[in-house]
Amino acid sequence: VALMADKADAAESAKPMQRIVAVGSGKGGVGKSTVAANLAVALSRTGRKVGLVDADIYGPSQARLLGTEGQKPVAHDNRLVPVASHWGVPVLSMGHLSDPGQAIAWRGPMASGALTQLLEGHWDDAEILIVDLPPGTGDIQLTMLQKFKPAGAVIVSTPQDLALIDATRAVELFEKGGVPVIGVVENMAGYICPHCGEVSDPFGSGGAEACAKTMGTPFLGRIPLDIAIRRESDAGTPPAAGEGPQAAAFADLARRVAD
Ligand code: ADP
Repeated sequence: VALMADKADAAESAKPMQRIVAVGSGKGGVGKSTVAANLAVALSRTGRKVGLVDADIYGPSQARLLGTEGQKPVAHDNRLVPVASHWGVPVLSMGHLSDPGQAIAWRGPMASGALTQLLEGHWDDAEILIVDLPPGTGDIQLTMLQKFKPAGAVIVSTPQDLALIDATRAVELFEKGGVPVIGVVENMAGYICPHCGEVSDPFGSGGAEACAKTMGTPFLGRIPLDIAIRRESDAGTPPAAGEGPQAAAFADLARRVAD
């Protein structure tokens, strides 16, 4: 028995250290997937080996964001091989486990089983695995917490009151589950007019920072509401891979998350 334990320990220590960073939000549409994709790309630009798991069961969008639509992973030794992208970030997605456009209505054990398939893919090379969670606090989040114990969680919120109340719930879920919250990101903060450059605040401003302070959680910075982010994301060219101010904002975020 002792020998078997030794063997298991040796196998365990031969694996490179892998950190799972979960990206969550209290509600949908706040830009969680956009932040997850660009955080992964920005981290990869710092020379780290990064993988991305799209666990957003309600609307898997990472294939579109990374420009890998239509590519399917193969299985090797009964484990999925992540799909390579142009941006140095391989991806496995809930979208790979269903037909394109088909709504996934899995509950409970099925959803957890699907998450397990994605997380137990061939990720041996990845030092950091970014996991784009579904919005809210459901079965996927529980499996994530209990079975895969992320090293930390990043919570994305817009500056609005309602989004912030939901973000607070997401922060509490991770903290209760023993997963440290790395911090809160304020997305869609400050709209930069593409014509005159004037900055306005359609969803308010500073709310997430104040909310993070109240919860005793670090504030990781702001990503502006910027048409270029939406356009480049839709085209499968993550803004974090470019050279513009958007890339700088995601690089800042990556620095704070990696610290
Ligand atoms: P979620 O994952 O929270 O549902 P998405 O990442 O899918 O949200 O983003 C929702 C929509 O908002 C997408 O069309 C996306 O391109 C857009 N979006 C996200 N963040 C920004 C931003 N900072 N500026 C402009 N558009 C954004």
